[in-house]
Amino acid sequence: MFDEKVKEAMAPCGLCCTTCFAHKDGDIRKYSLKLKEKLGNFHINAKRFETMLDNPVFKKYTVFQEVLDYFSSENCSGCRKEQCRIFKNCGVRSCHQDKKIDFCFQCDQFPCSNTNFDDGLYKGWVQINRKIREIGIEKFHETAIKRPRYG
Ligand code: SF4
Ligand code: SF4
Repeated sequence: MFDEKVKEAMAPCGLCCTTCFAHKDGDIRKYSLKLKEKLGNFHINAKRFETMLDNPVFKKYTVFQEVLDYFSSENCSGCRKEQCRIFKNCGVRSCHQDKKIDFCFQCDQFPCSNTNFDDGLYKGWVQINRKIREIGIEKFHETAIKRPRYG
């Protein structure tokens, strides 16, 4: 049996949901919210800093703010609880439920053609699940949460 916390953090496909920008308890959302809080009404000052520091980077502050707002607002509970918001066509979620297994690496059909992933994601999925088979899900999770998700 797997550690329940680890299982909840990891999607059945082997991707780590808590490192995803959309996850409600993920670091990306957490630090975006924190940064928003710390910046407060920085937008009011952005124009001033543009002149004071003679730096046109502050012109782009509103664009940065939009991205930060977006990262702060995403709030997915993870693949174990709801349909993935990014890979909308993902075939793994319902498939692993039908097969009554927790992860693809446990499946005797792995690597299959049921994922609906594009080539890049499919390749990653195969690699990830081979690695999980080799080192185990707990160890894989330990490494995954320390790495940048979009490295
Ligand atoms: S289910 Fe999809 S959108 Fe939600 S946290 Fe996991 S990878 Fe991100
Ligand atoms: S058939 Fe494929 S998608 Fe479904 S659980 Fe097995 S490996 Fe995963």
